[in-house]
Amino acid sequence: MSETVTNWAGNIVYTAKELHRPRSLTALGALVAGSARVRVLGSGHSFNAIAEPGAGGVLLSLAGLPAEVDVDAAARTVRVGGGVRYAELARRVHGHGFALPNMASLPHISVAGSVATGTHGSGVGNGSLASAVREVEIVTADGSTVVVGRGDRRFGGAVTSLGALGVVTALTLDLEPSFEVEQYVFTELPLAGLDPAAFETVMACAYSVSLFTDWREPGFRQVWLKRRTDQPMPGFPWAPPATEKMHPVPGMPAVNCTEQFGVPGPWHERLPHFRAAFTPSSGAELQSEYLLPRRHALDALRAVDAIRETVAPVLQICEVRTVAPDEQWLSPAYGRDTVALHFTWFEDTAAVLPVVRRLEEALEGLDARPHWGKVFTTPAGVVRARYPRLEDFAALAREFDPGAKFANEFVRDVLVG
Ligand SMILES: Cc1cc2nc3c(=O)[nH]c(=O)nc-3n(C[C@H](O)[C@H](O)[C@H](O)COP(=O)(O)OP(=O)(O)OC[C@H]3O[C@@H](n4cnc5c(N)ncnc54)[C@H](O)[C@@H]3O)c2cc1C
Repeated sequence: MSETVTNWAGNIVYTAKELHRPRSLTALGALVAGSARVRVLGSGHSFNAIAEPGAGGVLLSLAGLPAEVDVDAAARTVRVGGGVRYAELARRVHGHGFALPNMASLPHISVAGSVATGTHGSGVGNGSLASAVREVEIVTADGSTVVVGRGDRRFGGAVTSLGALGVVTALTLDLEPSFEVEQYVFTELPLAGLDPAAFETVMACAYSVSLFTDWREPGFRQVWLKRRTDQPMPGFPWAPPATEKMHPVPGMPAVNCTEQFGVPGPWHERLPHFRAAFTPSSGAELQSEYLLPRRHALDALRAVDAIRETVAPVLQICEVRTVAPDEQWLSPAYGRDTVALHFTWFEDTAAVLPVVRRLEEALEGLDARPHWGKVFTTPAGVVRARYPRLEDFAALAREFDPGAKFANEFVRDVLVG
């Protein structure tokens, strides 16, 4: 059987001519043990070759396995299968009266793939999605399963692992009691009015805050506040409220966006920007993102502002978020209060790449870590130098996978250059 396997955006065509979909853990273990090179494709929402197995390698999907979501109400945890997406997980968890602390902008991404790349939402107090993981089950090169939990010396490398340790077949996540969120949109927040203290105040004024700009003008076109109804109502004197429902990208219909105007709703229907019922099968876009120490936020925004005439022509939208520090060695938010500058580009790789390079030059000196799942051109050596525990991760990868079965070119670049 031959098929063309691509990522969601279509900018990556995998060399594998078949996507293996084992239907049991036994079949998965046998496939892994009998293959020389293996990579997992999650929901395919990354924009680079991170999932590429390389010529002759096996690409496998966990979508054929039972979509396990087992809530343990007494322990306040959920065990979720390696192929499950956040939309399904969130619906089931909410049905039991529980919540996840945070979600990314789109609920259609897989849990295992998201935490493998350090995916995050927003909020000065909210860590990356990997922060909620307490245990991970990994099928290793010989087909056997290794379980690593919080407290294990290997845990710091086991969750945000870029798929380099093996196949994650299940994760156990912490839960909290379900909560409700109201979403408010404000328009036209000037950059000129923001100093570092004001930036902190804006980003900390609600549970989750995002700033959006297309960089055609200085400043932010929109501010999205997501307030937990069990937390105080923030005043927002910096910008006027929106008068109609908004999509972050100017001109796009807002119908697929989550409810706004302060209508309260369950956490999983407000924390993502896009509704779970709207399922984009592919996307006409590319994305890049850089995560920096939050103390550099204003310098970074001014650096982008200084080149906005270069950035704007290929940009659909830029989103600014915050992420709390986490303990995963390869997390772009590892060990530091973080600001994340995200860019959704038009789907024109040739036009976008030089702008990405220019942007990386503009952010030089600000210790920017590129998002593992998005387009970047930062040299591997520079990326490596920005992760203080990188050597520990490289040692862990050798321990789990001495034959480098799961080490594709992307991973080898990161680990050894
Ligand atoms: C529209 C859109 C919105 C997005 N929003 C956000 C956002 O809000 N915040 C953010 O930080 N990022 C965001 N992203 C990026 C996205 O979260 C990451 O690319 C993430 O990795 C996607 O998960 P996936 O399962 O699709 O990963 P894939 O691209 O399928 O895989 C990513 C990596 O994880 C590995 N992997 C996947 N599953 C497993 C497994 N079971 N076992 C071992 N390894 C595995 C793969 O081998 C690969 O290395 C967005 C992307 C899109 C397209």
